[in-house]
Amino acid sequence: MNDTAEQLDRKVFTARVGVETFVAPVGPLTSDDINDELQQTLAECMEKGEYGIIADLADVGQLNSRAIEIFLDAQDQLLHRGGRLKVVSAGPLVMESLLITGFVHYVPTQGEDSQDTVRDAKSAYDPMPLGELLVRKELITQEQVNEALREQKKSGRRFGEIVTGRGWLEERQVLQALAEQLAVPMVRLRAGVYDPDVVAMLDPETAKRLKVLPLFNVRGVVSLATANPQDMPSLSEIEDRLQTTVRPIMARAEDILKCLDEANDDVFMSDEFITEVDGDFEVVENVVSDDYATIDEMAAGSPIINLVNSLIQRAITDGASDIHIEPSRKTSRVRFRIDGVLYEVMTPRIEIHPAIVSRMKVMANLDIAERRLPQDGRIQVFSRQRCIDLRFSSLPGLYGEKVVLRVLDKNNAILDINKLGMTTANLDTYIRLLGRSHGLILVTGPTGSGKTTSLYAALNYLNTLEKNIVTIEDPVEYQIDIINQNEVRDKIGLGFAKMLRHILRQDPDIVMVGEIRDQETATIAVQAALTGHLVLSTLHTNDSTGAITRMIDMGVEPYLLSSALIGVMAQRLVRTICPSCKTTYLAPPEIIEKYGWTDERVQLSRGRGCQDCYDSGYKGRMAIHELIESGGDLQRLIMSNASRDELNQHILEADIETLFHDGLGRVRQGQTTIEEISRVISS
Ligand SMILES: [Zn+2]
Repeated sequence: MNDTAEQLDRKVFTARVGVETFVAPVGPLTSDDINDELQQTLAECMEKGEYGIIADLADVGQLNSRAIEIFLDAQDQLLHRGGRLKVVSAGPLVMESLLITGFVHYVPTQGEDSQDTVRDAKSAYDPMPLGELLVRKELITQEQVNEALREQKKSGRRFGEIVTGRGWLEERQVLQALAEQLAVPMVRLRAGVYDPDVVAMLDPETAKRLKVLPLFNVRGVVSLATANPQDMPSLSEIEDRLQTTVRPIMARAEDILKCLDEANDDVFMSDEFITEVDGDFEVVENVVSDDYATIDEMAAGSPIINLVNSLIQRAITDGASDIHIEPSRKTSRVRFRIDGVLYEVMTPRIEIHPAIVSRMKVMANLDIAERRLPQDGRIQVFSRQRCIDLRFSSLPGLYGEKVVLRVLDKNNAILDINKLGMTTANLDTYIRLLGRSHGLILVTGPTGSGKTTSLYAALNYLNTLEKNIVTIEDPVEYQIDIINQNEVRDKIGLGFAKMLRHILRQDPDIVMVGEIRDQETATIAVQAALTGHLVLSTLHTNDSTGAITRMIDMGVEPYLLSSALIGVMAQRLVRTICPSCKTTYLAPPEIIEKYGWTDERVQLSRGRGCQDCYDSGYKGRMAIHELIESGGDLQRLIMSNASRDELNQHILEADIETLFHDGLGRVRQGQTTIEEISRVISS
């Protein structure tokens, strides 16, 4: 029992492969908990005489100064014993942190190619004038250099300023050349490539005045982002203040100031933050009862309101589907779910967590005094000429209430059946199924696989026909004109099954049941499909055959299901490659062989990770499908209560395009990656 609990708690995993030991931490190496475990694990490996250690950082999103020191110390000890530490699979943020700190010169590192964002200073100091260097790199002409030099003599402005001012070069190109000239590494600054604790070493006023940002403090050397590494007086002032050696890193001044603001918690309390909220952003206030009036007054003009508003607005702009706000012992943590993956966006101080939660409860018209029971509510905001609904839910926990806001952006709903991303063959089948006068169509997949969207698009398509369409949903996510939408009200005993019974008495042609979760709903849905209604619903199973066996497991008679069911569609949402950082590569031979591709050379794509995509390499999602039209053989199999294996065998033999094959097709078209397809299908 204890063993399993311990296993579950682990965040650093080890595996012995040949003479090497792989050490793989899972999660950002930014807290003491995980760093302690990492240090302990490395020490244990060495105690066991394992001196060839490979740190696999594939699942480490970012790291802090202490994590880097732990690795450096391990390298010292290993080299002493004739062994060696090597770092592999580092993502862009981690790789850049390792370059910034000079780590890569001491520990062999093999990671994502981040050439675009970090220039490591490999060459020694090269006193070649900047103009000459830019000409040699064929970025500007000698004539332009001469002209700039003439202007420099007259105006006294900096050479770099002049060539960017004239629009000949981008600031980034000049800085890169300057970095090369001075043998200083260059970084594109953003959250994740600095250690917040180290940023705090320098007071914000000084940092702002000198336009510098301390990034990491490793073994007494502080790497410092600056747009002007030649400014020796500033650097020595900082060395005096911090009592350390400074290692200058080139970065854009604008990025430095932006990160300075972000890294400093207090900014969320300052006026500056207010300006980030668009003028037209507005909370559509619920009718607030008298009890809330005072709180509203208290909160009026409060920074908390601005913080919450800007959070919501940023979530909407970034296309987040959920906002998670969860307290821990020391901080509150705000994360956005974008394209199905959670990203940390902010860690406000724990003291303001209750205020954030209370503000949201006020917005959702809930009881702010109730902190021991879970609560649900709805918040409406108006932003950029759109009305957006947010579903509020809170859950009490050890350190306070965890809040999740689900963004229900009606404008984002794909209600056009042609835009679901189906292959032509699948779309033809789907439309044919929807054209049937009666029968049951099931859409299946895990939570967040886009099932509801497929059903809404179907309803919207059917809505153009003269039919009586009724829905039962929990909750109603998108409103469609003309359609009769109903929300489940469990509290007053109106669950899916009971409402379905009521609705069937009202002579609908088409019924959409949000989800089949119990035997009663399953049975009525099948009966309705057999008595002249077209019934659409979703099930929470992994694949299409799973939906069939689930219905039978729930107690539906196989012979009834076999005649009611006309189609099953399994689907997933896969992330698409970020267009801003997309690159192509040739598929290795083993991949070509594994997937049975006949071409000799196959070009695939992937994203390197950039600012646009939170360094994930992905942006946006699309659906992949596996659509089976029931009939003939499949009907007979269902009637004979066939096992899952027999059903899967049938799909294989019937040459139906499976989820995986649909996904592989998209990989070949350069829209997504094999890793992404495998991730969503196996999860
Ligand atoms: Zn990108």
